[in-house]
Amino acid sequence: MWQSEVVTIVFVFLFGLIIGSFLNVCITRIPEELSIVLPGSRCPRCNTPIHPLDNIPVLSWLLLRGKCRNCREPISVMYPAIELLTGIFFVLCFLQFGLSVALGKWLFYTALIIVLSVTDLRTRLLPDAVTLPGLGMGLVFSAAVPPRNGVAFLLLERFTQRALPAPLVGLADGLLGAGFATLFLWGTGRAYRAWKGREGMGMGDVKMMAMVGAFVGLRDTLTVMLLGTLLGSIGGIWMIAALYAGGYKRDVAERAVRRGLGALNRLRWTLARRYWIPLGTYLGVGALAVLYLMPYLETLWIAGRH
Ligand SMILES: [Zn+2]
Repeated sequence: MWQSEVVTIVFVFLFGLIIGSFLNVCITRIPEELSIVLPGSRCPRCNTPIHPLDNIPVLSWLLLRGKCRNCREPISVMYPAIELLTGIFFVLCFLQFGLSVALGKWLFYTALIIVLSVTDLRTRLLPDAVTLPGLGMGLVFSAAVPPRNGVAFLLLERFTQRALPAPLVGLADGLLGAGFATLFLWGTGRAYRAWKGREGMGMGDVKMMAMVGAFVGLRDTLTVMLLGTLLGSIGGIWMIAALYAGGYKRDVAERAVRRGLGALNRLRWTLARRYWIPLGTYLGVGALAVLYLMPYLETLWIAGRH
């Protein structure tokens, strides 16, 4: 029994590595609107097709010491890191849900979040090609596996005497999560634009949160948005301060001072503040925390009260 569990975990991990390798393809190709199927993997530097034996997740990168066999140019550590991360999350997901339909739902969710978080960090894009099909899949999955902490379930139980079929309740929860995220973020974005006169949030962020909402339902959507914006604010302020302290665009500011456009430090601060926070990345961290961290925190909290 115990041994078969270990064997399953190893298989889930290897499966995660292979999916992680595919996620790398999605991350590098989808923002450039390239096919994720063809052609096969190529060296990002010299464009030489990569031999299948040099394309084994993590292992090939280690054996080739992070360099292309053909041009010897370095290959980003992002590739093995994403593969490893996906493998670890897949194992955590299996430990939480076992072999079940729920496992399928949350593996799919995890893969989508990894692609969006890393893509936003690299390119500040959250492609519709990921968020919109993801939103549709989220609703389908919510009908099959209702979100945890279902608000629709509680409301129906409270206000109607009739029990509705579980798939309908799950779908209602997904729609509530997606609908709330869309209205709230879109409204906040409009308010910010009216107040500051510039965009504070892209529509990509709205569509990403609608997708997350479709998977996790209303209550966890709130947690993801709170956590994501909080982390984003802390990370953003830290990044702007680091850019300022590091003399970011000092030459641009000095030229502006010579043209009489203002004081040096004030101009440097204005330039640093134009750093664009990858909000999708922070929302992604929140979206994974709700799935992988919250259940453990809730267990600890309940245990702590006894
Ligand atoms: Zn190369």
